[in-house]
Amino acid sequence: MIYNTYFQRFFTFMTNTFKNLIPFIIIFMPSHVSAKWYEHTFNTMGTRSHVEFWLNADKDKSVNTGTNEKAAHLIGQVVAEMKRLDQSMSPYIDSSELSLLNRDGGTKEVSVSKELFSLLLEAENISVMSKGAFDITYASIGYKYNYREKIRPPQAVIDMALPLINYHGITLNGTKSTVKFVNSAIKIDLGGIAKGYAIKRCINILKSQGVKFALVSAGGDTSLLGDRNGRPWLVGIKHPRAEEKNAVHIPLENEAISTSGDYERYFIEDGKRYHHIINPKTGDSARKVVSVSVIGKDATVVDALSTTVFVKGLDDGMAFINTMPEYEAIIIDNNQRLHFSKGLQQ
Ligand code: AMP
Ligand code: MG
Repeated sequence: MIYNTYFQRFFTFMTNTFKNLIPFIIIFMPSHVSAKWYEHTFNTMGTRSHVEFWLNADKDKSVNTGTNEKAAHLIGQVVAEMKRLDQSMSPYIDSSELSLLNRDGGTKEVSVSKELFSLLLEAENISVMSKGAFDITYASIGYKYNYREKIRPPQAVIDMALPLINYHGITLNGTKSTVKFVNSAIKIDLGGIAKGYAIKRCINILKSQGVKFALVSAGGDTSLLGDRNGRPWLVGIKHPRAEEKNAVHIPLENEAISTSGDYERYFIEDGKRYHHIINPKTGDSARKVVSVSVIGKDATVVDALSTTVFVKGLDDGMAFINTMPEYEAIIIDNNQRLHFSKGLQQ
């Protein structure tokens, strides 16, 4: 008992004394220890990607021989993984698995990789959960828009093609890992979920090689491993109408956050904003809100949910997120007011 009390006092004394010195200890660490942050920004999946991680040369023997080489190797793996997924899931690459599926899915059962099949299943789950607000067959009309060229399909074309937007039109055969569309005019696109999946894969690559603190982002999707070495990461949510500004900063650790905004790809015609998030019920851009961020552990689901809540809008979207305790949302409405889901309100 006495020993315990003395020990506790000693411990408290030591902790209080050294607490304030810790920052200096880190600052004056000998240079050969070389624990530090590494980062790299690159273009992939049609967007800007970023990777950032901490390598502690002291604790991880495998990096003592050359932390820089290990960092370069890790960065190389992250870039390669993003590129691999782009090659398989991009609608802009004719040889991608996705393009081949869109070409043949309406006429025959197409064999796809286990990876693409799993992602299609995840997309289908979110479609069911969201009652069709998230629907990868949105592309049956979505591909008729060209935001850079300010082209949109005429209303008559939208009316004709609208029945094609229906996730029930995709048959997934798990035993054979094949996919079939009920109609050859059905097209699918994974733009609302693939980046989340990609950053999740990259974080897992870093984690499997001993990294404890990391951030990987692709466009508006970010996944975090641990904290920022003792402090939370501060993730900015873009101001929807002021390009260089953030509307809010959120402290996070070990979470993923995805933002869907109507400012990412759009054009304005007769005062109306046509942008890349399509309401499957209308074939037109979703216009109930201007930005939605979703926070949760699973980067793939978080990515799909941000698109989903954007389509659903403030009331339905918030009610939907509030039924899922493991996910939170921050919505910016058309008057640029911020709204927080239940778990973020304190
Ligand atoms: P995000 O930025 O994650 O919201 O994703 C937007 C992307 O999701 C768009 O560029 C499209 O590729 C895709 N998308 C648009 N509308 C939908 C929808 N209703 N369901 C699923 N994906 C969609
Ligand atoms: Mg998303």
